[in-house]
Amino acid sequence: MGVVRRCTRSTCSQTAVATLTYVYADQTAVLGPLATYAEPHTYDLCVAHADRMSAPQGWNVLRLAPDPAAAPPNHDDLLALADAVREAGRPVPPVPDGPPSLRLVRPDS
Ligand SMILES: [Zn+2]
Repeated sequence: MGVVRRCTRSTCSQTAVATLTYVYADQTAVLGPLATYAEPHTYDLCVAHADRMSAPQGWNVLRLAPDPAAAPPNHDDLLALADAVREAGRPVPPVPDGPPSLRLVRPDS
């Protein structure tokens, strides 16, 4: 955490808000929310460059996040995430019969 992703256009140093992925097999350029991990054929773009991006001739363009402002997590999302982490940290109560997945299940017919 803490590293700000930058637009990958060479003359640009704006903060990246979207990730452009070239899917060569489908000849499709997918513009979506900022990817968690940098992968081959992906390019982080700022608002302006995401807006102006264009695919190679004959390619499809798929925009998953038309409004870049909606992409970053808001305060509520962070609170929900914190709750989920707390929930996951609770001790699991012991199950007397063993885990349910080990029980025999009779067919319903
Ligand atoms: Zn840019």
